[in-house]
Amino acid sequence: MTPAAPFLDETHDPSRASLVESADDPATDFPLQNLPLGWGRPVPGGPERMLAAIGSFVLDLAGVRGEGWLGDLPSSVLGAIDGPRLNALMSCGAEARRALRRALVALLDAASPVPIGRLRKHLFAADTAELLLPASVGDYTDFYASVFHAENVGRLFRPDSPLLPNYKFVPIGYHGRASSLVPSGTPIVRPSGQVRPDPAAPPSFRPTERLDYELEVGLFIGPGNRLGDRVAVGQAEEHAFGLCLVNDWSARDIQQWEYQPLGPFLGKNFATTVSPWVVTLEALAPFRAPAVERPAGEPAPLPYLDDGLGGLAGGFDVRLDVYLASSAMREQGLEPARTARSGLANLYWTFSQLIAHHTSNGCNLQPGDLLASGTVSGPDDGERGCLLEATAGGRTPLKLPSGEHRRFLEDGDEVALAGGCERKGFRRIGFGDCRGRVVPAR
Ligand code: CA
Repeated sequence: MTPAAPFLDETHDPSRASLVESADDPATDFPLQNLPLGWGRPVPGGPERMLAAIGSFVLDLAGVRGEGWLGDLPSSVLGAIDGPRLNALMSCGAEARRALRRALVALLDAASPVPIGRLRKHLFAADTAELLLPASVGDYTDFYASVFHAENVGRLFRPDSPLLPNYKFVPIGYHGRASSLVPSGTPIVRPSGQVRPDPAAPPSFRPTERLDYELEVGLFIGPGNRLGDRVAVGQAEEHAFGLCLVNDWSARDIQQWEYQPLGPFLGKNFATTVSPWVVTLEALAPFRAPAVERPAGEPAPLPYLDDGLGGLAGGFDVRLDVYLASSAMREQGLEPARTARSGLANLYWTFSQLIAHHTSNGCNLQPGDLLASGTVSGPDDGERGCLLEATAGGRTPLKLPSGEHRRFLEDGDEVALAGGCERKGFRRIGFGDCRGRVVPAR
């Protein structure tokens, strides 16, 4: 299955305008051609609904279904709009998702059969809507798919052999914690934990002094696989629903003392911020990219990780940015400072390979499970997706526009991730907000 070409259809036509005017603003993340899906309360305190983002509004899908404006869709899709969350829709598969997309594009098109006056009843201002986690996430797995991140971090600990010998054979990951996934905007309480900064002194328990962000992209699983079954790499995308932004907040001092021999634990699972909008594989179709080419002499993927397409379009060309704003910067009216710009096409392992690997032992993935990429870093200095890398473990602090310096995050710091896709001949699409502000330890 070649993912790119067959998915392109009339919904990607860049000349199509929307009857929702703000969707035609070139700066919006949410033109007609995107239509990411989410879950939340369109009216604060009101009932929860499945939502689609269009310009500066959210569309209530149950509302437009009630009008009969989605009439041709299969009853399974119409029923899935009631949730729970996006999980029911995720279990329906790619055909259902595409049918819903076509129906929504037709409804919101400038030539919609429904006049804006009637549609307005089901559109709500995005800036007051309460957006929740898009899915009820049963399991969350975090990978380590950027070789640049692995090398940068490895170099800090093992200058002579930054990359462990398994890296180019095995997609490295660990089981994260689903209960502490939080939607964008949730305050991040500075975690406390056991640390041992001085190997000659005993460990102590205290608030972390090395709080960090990690720039990541998450993939929500659509239809799952039965326990015991494997998903072939060539079929992996049939189990994918869409992408979101993920900030895997990390306490480096806690992580460093606890991580051997079983890997990350309390240094990671105190909070993980997820963007509320899921950008579907269909919306991303124009922005497919070849997987990173392995330099000559590197091991070829084992057959179960090789899709036979030479990585033709296994990647996604998503530009990713991190912005940081301190309390002082906000007080001085300064714009957030960009601390990194990276790109998802840099990943060493594609999401298809991550799905194939995750299920290679018969482990079952379920609709709404979240697979995160790991920190997405690139080869250049400005492409380091966490402070551990950007400050070389705290040795070279970043200077903020306020004159402050940062080795790691301070209370009051707000981190915002941004993602966007641009390609000539297509409308730019974006991922919306993924932000969190650090508040003092309790
Ligand atoms: Ca991570």
